Amino acid sequence: MPQTKFLLNESDLPKTWYNINADMPVPPAPILHPQTMKPVTPEFLSVLFPMELIMQEVSTERYIDIPEEVREIYKLWRPTPLIRAHRLEKVLGTPAHIYFKHEGTSPSGSHKPNTAIAQAFYNKAEGVKALTTETGAGQWGSALSMACNMFGMSLEVYMVKVSYHQKPYRRVLMETFGAEVFASPTDRTNYGRSILAQTPDSPGSLGIAISEAVEVAATSEGKKKYSLGSVLNHVLMHQTVIGEEALKQMDLAGEYPDVVIGCVGGGSNFAGIAYPFLRENILNGRNTRFVAVEPTATPTLTRGPYAFDYGDTAKMAPIVKMFTLGHDFVPPPIHAGGLRYHGMAPSICALYDAGFLEARAVPQLATFEAAITFAKAEGIIPAPETAHAVRAAIDEALDAKEKGEERVIVFNLSGHGHFDLAAYQAYLSNQLEDFEYPESAIQAALEKLPIVN
Ligand SMILES: *Cc1c(COP(=O)(O)O)cnc(C)c1O
Repeated sequence: MPQTKFLLNESDLPKTWYNINADMPVPPAPILHPQTMKPVTPEFLSVLFPMELIMQEVSTERYIDIPEEVREIYKLWRPTPLIRAHRLEKVLGTPAHIYFKHEGTSPSGSHKPNTAIAQAFYNKAEGVKALTTETGAGQWGSALSMACNMFGMSLEVYMVKVSYHQKPYRRVLMETFGAEVFASPTDRTNYGRSILAQTPDSPGSLGIAISEAVEVAATSEGKKKYSLGSVLNHVLMHQTVIGEEALKQMDLAGEYPDVVIGCVGGGSNFAGIAYPFLRENILNGRNTRFVAVEPTATPTLTRGPYAFDYGDTAKMAPIVKMFTLGHDFVPPPIHAGGLRYHGMAPSICALYDAGFLEARAVPQLATFEAAITFAKAEGIIPAPETAHAVRAAIDEALDAKEKGEERVIVFNLSGHGHFDLAAYQAYLSNQLEDFEYPESAIQAALEKLPIVN
């Protein structure tokens, strides 16, 4: 009988995070202050983040120790299983070997606690008692609610209004852990009030929710700090436990990936699985391909310009160089809420621009079709975000079939879809449609960039 699950012991849990900054083949662009447009100082960032996370953000050390307190909590669900999708391979009739890393086994159902626990820990260690954040689909808010509760901190969550109404049980989950959840735009902030005055029925966006959470922290006179669930270097770094474990697990399987796949919103789960394998390419002569998958409705990497842009809609967050759909992008209401951010992690953008990573955009209907094929074969209903990675993995497997190749495919199953069944219901009752991002929107985004380069 061929082996299906590749499991590690608690003692195999990584002791360090991997920092891609140590091995970046291209130098990072500076992070700029939103008003002065000069490189930001640690003092500016310290209004929002604890000093240890700021140091991690700019560190070029290859490995950073994971604190024992964080590893202890990771042990509640890590190491996560790596699973060979034998049944999916059979359904597809492919000679490819398909593996997935199951991050949906975390308590809140996604990869997000890997950084939530770490961020809560460092804030607590510096005496912070309250955090603010935004959430789109609710996965990040859920993870940070759990983490804040474990460290005895309070949390305000600004949840994108469409998701707040589409996913009432995500909100209840956050409230169960003691978080306060608000439908953004709210009337609690200057920025939220200004949006509501212009557009009373605004569905909200991640960019707007980030602005609200940042405003609350920035005007709290140091009482509250802000926490971001993706995009920043330190967040991507905390996720590398995924890829470090997967490297050991592929060893157990006696194989090595030809291609590693992940969906991308801000880029954290993709970086989490890809960067440790990318290190092996850069330092040890491996040549794995890396595929970042996004929706055709929010095609940041595949269609956006590579330019300096604000991280949020209100222009309060720093300006970073990234592929972007424009900071005031309000995405179409596609169901993969976690993939609707206008920008992308700067390291992913730089690596993509330099040809180290591939990107692919997939339409919504084909994505759900793949998710259901996967669910029927493997018994796991993936989050709609994750389904984008599933689509690309199936396409790789079908391509390998056509070419008669025993291609080894690894994808990150970033989360389960148990809170996303409204999206599946809409798909199953033929109410979903594909959405192509229009050329005019890209032009509009270009015109609003803070810096023309
Ligand atoms: C948040 C989320 C994503 C997208 O965020 P990244 O930072 O790009 O990983 C993808 N999948 C799931 C399940 C999520 O919760």
